[in-house]
Amino acid sequence: MDRMISGIPASPGFAVGEVHLLERGSLTVEERALDPDEVPAEIDRFELALGLARSEVKALQKRIAQTMGEEGVGIFGVHLMILQDPMVVEETIKGVRETLTNSATVFNGIITRMRDGLSNAADEYLAQRAIDIEDVRRRVLGHLVPGGRLFLKQLQRPVVVIARELTPSETAHLDPEKVLAFVTEAGGRTSHAAIMARSLGVPAVAGVSRITERARTGSLMAVDGTSGQVALNPDERTIKFFESQKAVFAELERELLKLKNLPAVTLDGREVELSANVETPMDMESVIRYGARGIGLLRTEYLYLDHEELPCEDEQYADYRDIVEKASPDSVIIRTFDLGGDKIGVGPESPLEGNPFLGWRAIRVSLSETDLFHTQLRAILRSSAHGSVKLLFPMISGLEELRQSKEALERACESLREEGIAFDEDIPVGIMMELPSACAMADSLALEADFLSLGTNDLIQYSLAVDRGNPRVAYLYQELHPAILRQIKAVIDAAHQHGRWVGMCGEMAANPLATMILVGMGLDEFSMNPDSLPEIKKIIRSCTHAEAKACADEALQETTIEGVTRVARRYTKGKLGDLITEMLEPVPASSADASDGNGEIENA
Ligand code: PEP
Ligand code: MG
Repeated sequence: MDRMISGIPASPGFAVGEVHLLERGSLTVEERALDPDEVPAEIDRFELALGLARSEVKALQKRIAQTMGEEGVGIFGVHLMILQDPMVVEETIKGVRETLTNSATVFNGIITRMRDGLSNAADEYLAQRAIDIEDVRRRVLGHLVPGGRLFLKQLQRPVVVIARELTPSETAHLDPEKVLAFVTEAGGRTSHAAIMARSLGVPAVAGVSRITERARTGSLMAVDGTSGQVALNPDERTIKFFESQKAVFAELERELLKLKNLPAVTLDGREVELSANVETPMDMESVIRYGARGIGLLRTEYLYLDHEELPCEDEQYADYRDIVEKASPDSVIIRTFDLGGDKIGVGPESPLEGNPFLGWRAIRVSLSETDLFHTQLRAILRSSAHGSVKLLFPMISGLEELRQSKEALERACESLREEGIAFDEDIPVGIMMELPSACAMADSLALEADFLSLGTNDLIQYSLAVDRGNPRVAYLYQELHPAILRQIKAVIDAAHQHGRWVGMCGEMAANPLATMILVGMGLDEFSMNPDSLPEIKKIIRSCTHAEAKACADEALQETTIEGVTRVARRYTKGKLGDLITEMLEPVPASSADASDGNGEIENA
């Protein structure tokens, strides 16, 4: 078989087709000094460019609403917000006036700084928002400098689209009927192009190193968006293999979607909750499409990514209430801000830290910024009057922080009572189990919290000392590490001893190879990106609890990642279709593989 080039699986599915390489026109911004009397006309020109850009985005929103629904509309809503952001608009006008420089140069300087600030973020979601800013940059400059207009050729026949990166506007300009797959050098699972590809049902692979240099328009390419691999100029055997996988995948997809309204219950009747992780109101569309039972994690900090300051109580209340009402009658677990770390700072004066993940982050920020915490707690409590709300505190390290958080909550409750404002007096209060210290104290914490939610994204990085965003040590970031399984088991057992339920809202909840182990250990709730729900539900509905328990018991006996993976594979085989199970989690790579860096592997 051919050499496979590996990237990041961004949207599942298979395709084989002719390559169409997307190339952008170059965009040169030349600095020009203005005479003072030219300033008003230059500002008019800039405002006209913004107006034209806004009309284009609104037109795109309308078009995309017909093909993609709310999700696509929401993406372009973000572009409209950038086009109105005072940091962009007012600062550009001010810059033109003060420096007597043309608006294209000033605007380009401001927006490029914004873009670069985000693209260096360790968090993938934040880094991907840089692509939205780039999209807006090109759109506005398209009206200010020659050669900048976004121009994409009409596709004549179905093709595999290859680009360095794809902005949402470029994705929206392409006729989905003519796109077999997307392959990009940049981007990741949370880039908007990936989100759009998933909602259009188009396979996509991101992060494929130097693919725009290697592929030419007209070459043939086979794409596997499920495992994130592509084959350039595949031979007959590879083509046949991909075509057969495509048929299996299509069948599996049809089967999975049929499960949408069925419960996540094992063959012998043990039911678990499957809920969704949500970052913005636009995620609610997928929550409904994939049949989630409520929201297992609302990451509130993501609602305000593009805000310079956190919003006031009323604004937060309106946002939380909107999501609570949309999810009703199912419940929403609202997590208080997880600020700091690799996420947004607290205002412009946020300190730069040597080890942000070990620094002033999450509950540590909330407990020291008491006004900020009080405001958010009041807003969350007020939203609890409109549906079923549970409250979740992030990054709790021990009993002191849980007690302090609950005291702050009581102060917020008391202030609402005094004002006669309605809220749920019995609001359940849970904590994220994402620090090894919390796991070690699980029994004591379970006595004082109503529920526990395992945050494996952080638990793994803190337990294995592996920065979750550092690709050089990514090979060490292993969900199926025996040390992780043992901690999870200890947390579940401790919680159950005290009659508490335990969920998991880290990415591990969406790992098909972990599903049977977690069900077998007794995990009560799984919360994940909505599009992963059908796969996990299928596995749960295909096994008995006894089988899952045997899988967990065997996995817990293993002392290496490889051993655990082997057990998980053996039990999971056939539950989802071998295709997916085999591909999603290869046996762990070694550090030697990780440092190789060219992304090429010989397929067996
Ligand atoms: C986690 O750490 O697993 C988690 C769900 O929280 P976040 O990814 O927001 O840190
Ligand atoms: Mg976390």
